[in-house]
Amino acid sequence: MKGLSKSRYTAFCQCPKNLWLKVFKPEEATVDEALQARFEQGNKVGDEAMKLFGEYKEAHAEKPDGSLDLAAMVEQTQQWMQQGVENICEASFALDGHYCAVDILRKNGDGWDIYEVKSSTYKGDKEDTPKHLLVYTRDIAYQKWVLTQCGVKVKSCYLVRLNKFYVLGKELDPKGLFHIKNMDDLVENEYAKVKANVSLALKTLAGNEPDEPIAIHCHEPYDCSFFQYCTKGMEEPNVFNLYRMNFKKKCELYNQGKINFEDLVNEKLNEIQQMQVSTFLNNTQLVTPKEIGEFLKTLTYPLYFLDFETMQTAIPEYEGTSPYQQITFQYSLHWIEEEGGELHHTDYLGDSVSDPRRKLAEKLCRDIPKGVCSTAYNKGFECGRLRELAKAYPDLAEHLNDIADHIIDLIEPFRKKMVYLPEMNGSFSIKHVLPALQPDDPELNYKNLAGSVHNGGEAMTIYPRIAKMSQAEADAARQSLLEYCKLDTLAMVKVWEKLKEMAE
Ligand code: SF4
Repeated sequence: MKGLSKSRYTAFCQCPKNLWLKVFKPEEATVDEALQARFEQGNKVGDEAMKLFGEYKEAHAEKPDGSLDLAAMVEQTQQWMQQGVENICEASFALDGHYCAVDILRKNGDGWDIYEVKSSTYKGDKEDTPKHLLVYTRDIAYQKWVLTQCGVKVKSCYLVRLNKFYVLGKELDPKGLFHIKNMDDLVENEYAKVKANVSLALKTLAGNEPDEPIAIHCHEPYDCSFFQYCTKGMEEPNVFNLYRMNFKKKCELYNQGKINFEDLVNEKLNEIQQMQVSTFLNNTQLVTPKEIGEFLKTLTYPLYFLDFETMQTAIPEYEGTSPYQQITFQYSLHWIEEEGGELHHTDYLGDSVSDPRRKLAEKLCRDIPKGVCSTAYNKGFECGRLRELAKAYPDLAEHLNDIADHIIDLIEPFRKKMVYLPEMNGSFSIKHVLPALQPDDPELNYKNLAGSVHNGGEAMTIYPRIAKMSQAEADAARQSLLEYCKLDTLAMVKVWEKLKEMAE
């Protein structure tokens, strides 16, 4: 394609270099498993949205090599519009090398309405500020421009998103699942800019790789997949590893050449950031035995170490759940009965076919007695899931809430500056803390896990796929999930043991 498409136009609006790299150096993009999972979710949302207005036709044609035949799709669209088809999905238009496909084109009297479908959620009118909606507004304005240039009378434009407040009943109700917002006023303003933007984008594509500063546009509205390429040569740790500094400030420092920790010594940094820089430069550790000892006294026997794995689906799959709700499908639990006692382990993993939550909650109530001390790493996540389960299953609520009430956060000594090692690289996540504390134990290295699951993102992507795998693949995937989650709680045990050593 020599011109623009919706995604190329919005890429240009985010950053001209982003568009240029997308076209000429796509191999430099960093695409992770989570991004791939989001695409899959987006496709499911698109399929469901097509049913919003009843009967429809979907423009689709492929070339012999399997790629989309855009010219044939444009022709299909024209024919159906002439025939008066009410709803056309993927309605395709081309003009001077520019192309766009409208998610749903809907007949409205003597004209047509554009419906742009997104897999993001509507979270209430308060969140719908022009700034928040800008990325969608630009996208729709471009579509309106292409259609208008093609002689189509566009009457209204709508944004279709998943309704966060929808709760799945016995059957999926597309009207309740989606929220539809009229975008006419917002689009009018952006529409006026499209022509100029298109010509600037074409100039960008006709030139050499543009120079663009690292700035907020690398992060908003989306994390740019070329960030690693644009910052290549930057060593770790660097300004982007600084704990809880806002991205804009990091970019300012980066563009002033203050990239490595040596360059940041005289900068105004908060206490934790200063500690990061000084411990790294002086190769020192921060260990405060007395404070660690006080913290450890709050952990009592029998002591439990709990970790959940969850998945989120755009379209809710289980009754009583909402779009993108966290569905807890697995846990790992280690525990020790008494000082010097044996380490025990148990776990739960759903079958990836039915709703895993009820059985998981029941087993958890059998595994963790009321009133005992549990630990979680970054407990907000585990407590949040426990409260949700308690809400979903009132007969288990008292027990589940009791577990949540007695969880102590194992991240506390790190967040509260009782321990800091330069190897943590400004992160208190267990994936950074563990190798810093226990660098020589290959058993504790997530990279050494033999299976396909090495992090939470992979776990949440693989679990729902198990239902469609062959028996052998499913067995391997389940084994991999079990080993991964078990390592998460074993890691917590090892962190706790190390803290005990440090307190002595
Ligand atoms: S990383 Fe930033 S500068 Fe580089 S292409 Fe992306 S948005 Fe542009």
